[in-house]
Amino acid sequence: MQIYADNAATTRMSRTAIDAMIPYMEENYGNPSSLYTIGQRAKEALEQARADVAAVINADPREILFTSGGSEADNQALITAATLGKKQGKTHIISTAFEHHAILHTLEKLEKEGFDVTLLPVHENGIVDVQELEAALREDTCLVTIMTANNEIGTIQPIREIGAVCRAHGVLFHTDAVQAVGHLPIDVKADNIDMLSASAHKFHGPKGVGFLYARKGIRLTNLIEGGAQERGKRAGTENVPGIMAMAAALKEAAANMEKNAAHLTALRDRLIAGLSDIPHSALNGDAQRRLPGNVNFCFEGIEGESLLLLLDDKGISASSGSACTSGSLDPSHVLLAIGRVHDVAHGSLRLSLGEDATEEEVDYMIRSVGEVVGYLRSFSPVWRDLVAGKTPFIL
Ligand SMILES: *Cc1c(COP(=O)(O)O)cnc(C)c1O
Repeated sequence: MQIYADNAATTRMSRTAIDAMIPYMEENYGNPSSLYTIGQRAKEALEQARADVAAVINADPREILFTSGGSEADNQALITAATLGKKQGKTHIISTAFEHHAILHTLEKLEKEGFDVTLLPVHENGIVDVQELEAALREDTCLVTIMTANNEIGTIQPIREIGAVCRAHGVLFHTDAVQAVGHLPIDVKADNIDMLSASAHKFHGPKGVGFLYARKGIRLTNLIEGGAQERGKRAGTENVPGIMAMAAALKEAAANMEKNAAHLTALRDRLIAGLSDIPHSALNGDAQRRLPGNVNFCFEGIEGESLLLLLDDKGISASSGSACTSGSLDPSHVLLAIGRVHDVAHGSLRLSLGEDATEEEVDYMIRSVGEVVGYLRSFSPVWRDLVAGKTPFIL
């Protein structure tokens, strides 16, 4: 059996998305800034895509800026808020300890430039406390940036309440909604969101394309200088095929959102129940307030990396919360943020299901993970010490 269970890392492009991009590579491949017909056709398509994307989050098309993906949108949102804040002498930013690195590394850069950053705790359940946020607001706070849903443990933040608090205090609110757009309902007006980041490849669109929503009246800071594309706020010839595919993928995801969520939630809960039977294991993050397809566990006494390799042998593509795969030995900052100790955080596994997943696949994953965890423990010195009582079990 071959199962792709890493949809939080990226998704397969949908047929609809692929079909939507081909005409803009083969026929209407003109530069949207050109005046002749094939350029103008590309321009019209681009504006239709902008309207389609805007409609899904209840924004105005003029509030949508196409970017190269989620990371660029996150960078531009934060740099914009920092620039606007600095002009008013406001240099305090509030975020959380478990944001994506596109946020955390930009915040580190801003700290070096003199900004003061408060990272709110996300507690054991992986959810921000709105009262703690309100208490952290200061006279000089220029931005609150909190992700809609976490990419590792899938927990969903009370975005509408956070937005309301920020609006009441006149502070800009940005949300990295890369994991949520196309999967959860978002209404930027009702949710009081000032800026929002999204990425096409997380909802069955292509890689290297995304968008930043910025409420009307927010003067964006350019990250890329050059031509006057995107109202002068993002230079460079537009990625027309990618944008067309993104809009098609998002429309499709929005049309099927309820059905997909119901299907995935049932499979997710089946998977969680099955994996919970493995002794000394624990689900990471709130069991209910999490993305429909996200399952993330820690298994005591094993290394996540070995688990991934053996699951790959069984045909399962999964991910570890840990950053070891990228050459660092540090455990996941997300798991540490919810209070997992280093040893336990190392034995983590994320399975993020796709909409085409089946019960049969879920049952196969439950069996396979159980077998592999048992096998790894059978020769783990850490596990031996735990069983012998030399070190106490944590989970
Ligand atoms: C994937 C992801 C990003 C980065 O998006 P790219 O399009 O890959 O740059 C940012 N934030 C979150 C929460 C993500 O999951």
